[in-house]
Amino acid sequence: MRLPADYHLHTPLCRHATGTPAEYAARALALGLPEIGFADHSPMPRDDFDNWRMRADQLGEYVESVQRARRDHPRLAIRLALEVDYVPGQEAWIRDLAARHAWDYLIGSVHYVSDTWAIDDPGRLSEWHRRDPDEVWALYFDRLTRAAASGLFDIIGHADLPKKFGFRPRADCRPWFDRFLRAACATAVAVELNTAGLRKDCREIYPAPDLLQRMAQAQVPITFGSDAHAVAEVGANLAQAAQLARDCGYTHGCRFAGRQRRLEPL
Ligand code: ZN
Ligand code: FE
Ligand code: FE
Ligand code: ZN
Repeated sequence: MRLPADYHLHTPLCRHATGTPAEYAARALALGLPEIGFADHSPMPRDDFDNWRMRADQLGEYVESVQRARRDHPRLAIRLALEVDYVPGQEAWIRDLAARHAWDYLIGSVHYVSDTWAIDDPGRLSEWHRRDPDEVWALYFDRLTRAAASGLFDIIGHADLPKKFGFRPRADCRPWFDRFLRAACATAVAVELNTAGLRKDCREIYPAPDLLQRMAQAQVPITFGSDAHAVAEVGANLAQAAQLARDCGYTHGCRFAGRQRRLEPL
């Protein structure tokens, strides 16, 4: 069975990942992956915003490290990308980042539901216990919908991230999903199947089958990513993710080069 491209790989510049891009590429070749893409956590306008991303002055070093992996592994297609946090009000900053290098794609992710709380941060798990999960999920999907509607991104990352630690909403998710999917269709943005959820408390790929089936009905294009933060995670569970996509009705995934999309049979 063909494996999909792994489009969500991190690097040590984000300060919570290990292994160089060249080492990830070597692992990808050993696994028989057809293509990979680095999408490390992009800088914020302020370097002291948090401590889990590259600084603004490290962007060139990041690009250089991906180019080095390309030189070391010329047989593997290696894409240059970023995982960009969507924070309302930072649209101009994101456009500026987008113009700085020859990115193959930008993943737009929501981690922050306010300026101070990233819902997936294990160090801030206690915040979940103070909050109503319904409120957090609503805030999250409001931002995710705005990210999809912004037209700033090629791919939306881990679309149901609030499930990470197992805090599930009591409310009916369908209105949130449908608003998000209407925005995604309006801008033709793709959504990734991210296998990191299988390694978290939720034990489930992002997004859940219910959302994925709705995506398939709405003909939202998909990509695949392990969200690897270590060499051993490169390509993790991508065959399972491809099977899930097929089970939900997908026949194709997509690939990006120079921010242009093309379909690829699953
Ligand atoms: Zn990360
Ligand atoms: Fe993320
Ligand atoms: Fe990531
Ligand atoms: Zn991620």
